[in-house]
Amino acid sequence: MQGYDVIVVGGGNAALCAALSAREQGARVLVLERAPVAERGGNSAYTDGKMRFAYNGADDIIRLSQDLTPEEIASSEFGVYTEEEFFDDMARITQNRTDPDLCEILVRGSNAAMHWLKDNGVRFLPNYGRQAYKINGKFKFWGGAPIVTWGGGVGLMEALYKSAEKKGVEIRYGAWVRDLIHSDSGVSGVVAKIDGASRRITAGAVILACGGFEANTEWRSRYLGKGWDLAKVRGTQYNTGDGLDMALRIGAQPYGHWSGCHAVGWERYATDFGDLNLTPNFQRHSYTFCVMVNADGRRFLDEGADLRSFTYAKYGHIVLEQPGQFAWQIYDAKVKHLLLDEYRTRQVTKVTANTLEELADKMEDVNKSQLLKTIAEFNAAVRTDIPFDPNIKDGRCAAGLEVPRSNWANTIDTPPYEAYAITCGITFTFGGLRISTEGQVLDTNHEVIAGLFAAGEMVGGIFYFNYPGASGLTSGAVFGRLAGRSAGRFAKAARAA
Ligand SMILES: Cc1cc2nc3c(=O)[nH]c(=O)nc-3n(C[C@H](O)[C@H](O)[C@H](O)COP(=O)(O)OP(=O)(O)OC[C@H]3O[C@@H](n4cnc5c(N)ncnc54)[C@H](O)[C@@H]3O)c2cc1C
Repeated sequence: MQGYDVIVVGGGNAALCAALSAREQGARVLVLERAPVAERGGNSAYTDGKMRFAYNGADDIIRLSQDLTPEEIASSEFGVYTEEEFFDDMARITQNRTDPDLCEILVRGSNAAMHWLKDNGVRFLPNYGRQAYKINGKFKFWGGAPIVTWGGGVGLMEALYKSAEKKGVEIRYGAWVRDLIHSDSGVSGVVAKIDGASRRITAGAVILACGGFEANTEWRSRYLGKGWDLAKVRGTQYNTGDGLDMALRIGAQPYGHWSGCHAVGWERYATDFGDLNLTPNFQRHSYTFCVMVNADGRRFLDEGADLRSFTYAKYGHIVLEQPGQFAWQIYDAKVKHLLLDEYRTRQVTKVTANTLEELADKMEDVNKSQLLKTIAEFNAAVRTDIPFDPNIKDGRCAAGLEVPRSNWANTIDTPPYEAYAITCGITFTFGGLRISTEGQVLDTNHEVIAGLFAAGEMVGGIFYFNYPGASGLTSGAVFGRLAGRSAGRFAKAARAA
């Protein structure tokens, strides 16, 4: 296993995009994926395949989603999502912390990356039902992420692996990279444990695309803080911060929000790590239509503060801070048809009842009298004079409550009632390495580490505090392409010298 121009560490979306992009430069590429083949693809395989990108209208969507029928096109309002809107969302959601250079690369590269993925065999379709509700016969899309990859994350990764194999990228599974080969002249390979034996594999350049540290309990407590050891991991068990660790050990510069992460409300009794067959069923993202209470029977966040895409990634943290690290989402019959499919699977902790008293009795670990008081107060505060519209921020609030409710407020008064128990599920960590605008890793002296590149979750400085939904895959594709192109050129130049 020698003679490579570029070694890519990791086997998710960022890694495969980097590998394909380096290959486009004519580089001989080796991908080292820690997971066995059945679990390949990292967190990327666990996704719904939702992707945020700037687009100019229906034509863009139709060019990307080639299986669309004329009837579907006629019944869809895709709208537009301009680069300016994407910039605004990134700035607002990250509290103006996002690195302007990296944000610019992400936003301006997003549309081209989608078409590049399509050229590499990825198929897309509109995200009917999740990013658009059918109202008066029309699907009206909202939130800047109108399409998903065909077959979700698994479909995305299958397409990318197929394309990589076809184009001559070499792939090793069960290849656990533990170290970088490094000297004063830069990085020239890796040490990986393959089939139980440690091997040194040299190359002209190395791209780190092996995720964050969300699956490392000890690092979560160390960097994210108290209680984070108790979070469920939504995705792969293999993202334990190895790439960050090996880069920091040779002087790479940490960058971004190391105490921040993406975390959501998640089935209370979900498995500790993701499971490709079960994970989609653990999501509980219909909360914008519920009343959410903690063990004290009290509301603790604004369920309808904004469109789901702009709140879900920060609400897991707030659930984690509640007594016992859990909460209940309560719905009544009026909104039941709006619940996403996963609420109808077997992987739910759910209670149902025909009266609120009976529901409260069945809700484990909750203060019953306070819960009934909370619902009565909420019901009295709902502005029923404002029309309810799930497709837009409808301004239908519950006025005057201590914990505000800004949109989509509905009284909880129509049986049967349903309640779902959730806890915190961590998705990925925000802290990463500092890279140049060419994808090169910088050291703590602010200089480039020759031969070392990074992409995907490993890039720090993009997301802070929160995250505009569906940006992770886009970021992996954009920065993966960039790192692959730069590493391919670097390695070829080194070979020619
Ligand atoms: C349940 C879930 C749903 C999500 N839904 C969406 C969505 O719809 N849209 C969206 O944009 N984002 C979504 N995300 C976030 C998204 O998954 C990430 O932002 C993105 O996939 C990160 O890509 P990546 O390539 O950087 O990391 P990953 O896809 O996690 O890949 C990291 C890879 O590195 C490998 N690895 C780790 N350590 C080593 C090592 N030492 N040696 C070798 N290999 C190693 C892993 O095995 C893995 O293959 C979701 C995440 C989860 C968990």
